[in-house]
Amino acid sequence: MAAPENGKKLVRSHSGLRMISGNDVDGSPFSIREPDWVPDDQFQYCMNPDCQGKFHFMNRRHHCRRCGKVFCNKCCEAKLPLPRMCFVDPVRHCQTCSGHTKKENDFYDKSLKTLLQGGEFTVLDSENNEESHNFLCKLSVDHRMLLFDGQGSQDSIMLDRIESIQVLSTETDSQDDEGNKIGTGVAMRYRDRSDDKQIIKMTVTGGANRKQGMLWVAAMQKAFKMVCETRSVFST
Ligand SMILES: [Zn+2]
Ligand SMILES: [Zn+2]
Repeated sequence: MAAPENGKKLVRSHSGLRMISGNDVDGSPFSIREPDWVPDDQFQYCMNPDCQGKFHFMNRRHHCRRCGKVFCNKCCEAKLPLPRMCFVDPVRHCQTCSGHTKKENDFYDKSLKTLLQGGEFTVLDSENNEESHNFLCKLSVDHRMLLFDGQGSQDSIMLDRIESIQVLSTETDSQDDEGNKIGTGVAMRYRDRSDDKQIIKMTVTGGANRKQGMLWVAAMQKAFKMVCETRSVFST
């Protein structure tokens, strides 16, 4: 097993070993909380409505680590990595949760890498719409903010302070396999460090890196959906 990274610690929960940040403030904006487990004595039957097999000593209960419900082995046998809950090893998933996690793991495998690599954008100066600057915009290594590298000045944007995302100027009106628009730019409303509302409009720059910029826009939409989910989970 890998040694804990800086500032992270290993903890054992009822679901398995987790590698978490030393404090919540440093947590990834994509992470979600572990569910409470349904108590063993509350359900005598598998909670998959298509199964409803009765539990007994040969047909034992298993908890889905993502939703916390109880299932028979057959309905909860998929073991998948669940990075959003910071598990070190793959954990048991029910069939419904497997679908969600597979989609998200695709985000971790592909979209997250695109976001970390960054895309090249022209950013309109919000004070003066005529002036524009070129930046490489990328997600920080801790996933918490968007960083802007370039000639002009643009403060970093905290991911959990983005309030809305609008895809700009879709070239072909095409969508990716999850229904996200493939755009050539993005407008984001967010709150800055002084809690003032801001809007940033970024357009993919032309040239060799154009495709990477468009992939970045698509990946950013997925990231924003996940951040919104995290918010709704934590606010309930
Ligand atoms: Zn589940
Ligand atoms: Zn079952």
